[in-house]
Amino acid sequence: MGSWNYSVFWDEAINQAKSELGDHEFAMWFNIQYDSSTENSIAIRVPSSFYRDQLVRQYQKYIEDKLFDLMGKRIGIEFIVVKPTPVDAPVALLASEEEKQIHETRPRAKDKDSPQKDRGKHPQLRTDYTFENFVIGDNNGFASNAALAISKNPGTSYNPFLIYGGVGLGKTHLMQSIGNRVWVESPKMKVICITAEEFTNEFIQSIHDKTTQNFKNKYRYVDVLLIDDIHFLQNKLGSQEELFHTFNALYDGNKQMVFTCDRPVSELKNLSDRLRSRFERGLNVDLQPPNFETRSAILKKKIEAGRISVPDEVIEIIAKNISTNVRDLEAALTKLIAYSELVHKDITLEIAQNQLKDVFSQSKHGNVTIDNILRVVADYYKLSYNDLKGKKRTKNIAFPRQVAMYIARDITEYSTTELGFEFGGRDHTTVMHACQKIEERLKLDPNLESTIQALVRTIKEYSSKP
Ligand code: ADP
Ligand code: MG
Repeated sequence: MGSWNYSVFWDEAINQAKSELGDHEFAMWFNIQYDSSTENSIAIRVPSSFYRDQLVRQYQKYIEDKLFDLMGKRIGIEFIVVKPTPVDAPVALLASEEEKQIHETRPRAKDKDSPQKDRGKHPQLRTDYTFENFVIGDNNGFASNAALAISKNPGTSYNPFLIYGGVGLGKTHLMQSIGNRVWVESPKMKVICITAEEFTNEFIQSIHDKTTQNFKNKYRYVDVLLIDDIHFLQNKLGSQEELFHTFNALYDGNKQMVFTCDRPVSELKNLSDRLRSRFERGLNVDLQPPNFETRSAILKKKIEAGRISVPDEVIEIIAKNISTNVRDLEAALTKLIAYSELVHKDITLEIAQNQLKDVFSQSKHGNVTIDNILRVVADYYKLSYNDLKGKKRTKNIAFPRQVAMYIARDITEYSTTELGFEFGGRDHTTVMHACQKIEERLKLDPNLESTIQALVRTIKEYSSKP
């Protein structure tokens, strides 16, 4: 065995992470220590299995990419769960002695009978995005049944299958569940899962490297092709063209395609008609925000997976207060569990109320700011932010400004007085007048309604980015 010591690279990667993530996030999640290196991996000590799971989900790829940048080669991270002594580490451990073993971050096989053993983990699929971990509820029953059917007989029933809906509603999870199921059940099938952005980048790179033929071969000879977030293809004409040909090759060969998109295909802009019509073939289904029962069931499932006990009344207030998106729901639970670990206390209703106060109020108001509204609306009407805030009253500016006011009134909690102020120091009657105008126009012009809906979606999306 050679002796390897990558601690210098590790320290540098961690320093970079610290400055990028900020002190708070860093302190919360990087209570970890370098342990040792082998030729292709670094072992890290973490204080609990919960901690490890969070790191794997949220930061593993991030750190590995950093190491790759620093070292020029791919280094894996292995986590060693080590129960800290109370003196030198403040973080409590959830689980017992059994945790004190080395865990590989990428389990080779879930259980010994599973065919997955032969194939290992799929390099692009998350192991936790499975049907087993997906709660079927009021909002996704049809989509999940279709997904299940597809994974049984890829390429034969619904092709392509396209899942659309707002952020954090489970599109990626459901799509990858299909991939994972096929991967395990049909060992001969080739599965590729990428985002539309990666597809685009790889395509551009292949042109640059003069390897487009390899690129084409790679994507035209798969059994299941999963492409996430195809709204990214808007305006990317070259990639659209390439995907169009890929699509045809796969479609003719009865190979399954699954896409996700943040809106109905009909609302995508700058997309070639022929690709649009391909996407709309097969089956398009939408995911809606889950109702209270489904939200509670999702929380329970996550808790089940993590061996932490959370009282029902706590589940209830989280499910009640966070209603728009599953990702936020999970984040609230994670925050609570992390807190309870840090302070060695069981989760109670009181702790939950205190710790999640901000999360709850933010969820009500959304992160939507007037600034975001102005930016998105200005962008859509090809104006500048200052045009909308400014004094000019020419028609081409006045109307978009009214639209922005109407949206702000609709989706934020601001009063008309506050809104007037935010919109360049106008009077509250101006805001009321704007809202009336738009309401009148909505009655006459059905297109305006869908424009406004699309704008609202974009604003929410834009505002939910960190
Ligand atoms: P999207 O791709 O629509 O933005 P994701 O698939 O990334 O959303 O889902 C966000 C988070 O919510 C993921 O962690 C996912 O596991 C979880 N999630 C969404 N829907 C469900 C569900 N029905 N059951 C369990 N977890 C879910
Ligand atoms: Mg997604």
